[in-house]
Amino acid sequence: MTEPTSCIFCAIINKKITARIEKESANVLAFHDTNPVAPVHILIVPKVHVNNIYQMSNEDSSLLGEIILTANFVAKANKLDQTGYRLVINTGEDAGQTVHHVHCHVIGGRSLAWPPG
Ligand code: 5GP
Ligand code: ZN
Repeated sequence: MTEPTSCIFCAIINKKITARIEKESANVLAFHDTNPVAPVHILIVPKVHVNNIYQMSNEDSSLLGEIILTANFVAKANKLDQTGYRLVINTGEDAGQTVHHVHCHVIGGRSLAWPPG
């Protein structure tokens, strides 16, 4: 998918705006959320622009695997593997997706309520 000029996460990937980067590979970037909702709040994004996870398919299975395995790395690096954490992929309006470049939230470091609001 063509990268929209207005995409804030593409701007972070292309180092046009700064972010606190946690991990970077050829395909995936993990960086800290600017408005954290928990002591650890990290976003994992594919470097290729995709609006949301529903638009991903079998061809993206390796990339999807790398996103989830990067979440494992981030969890361990931040000691969340010992206490628990949540992965969230908001998709579409009703889920409150505000940035339309697919991203997986890694949220932890405190007790998390369920169900979400
Ligand atoms: P969504 O609601 O789309 O699932 O989550 C988007 C997330 O991106 C929000 O948690 C928001 O705080 C974060 N965010 C928005 N703009 C920026 C930015 O410029 N830098 C960083 N690091 N995070 C951002
Ligand atoms: Zn983008």
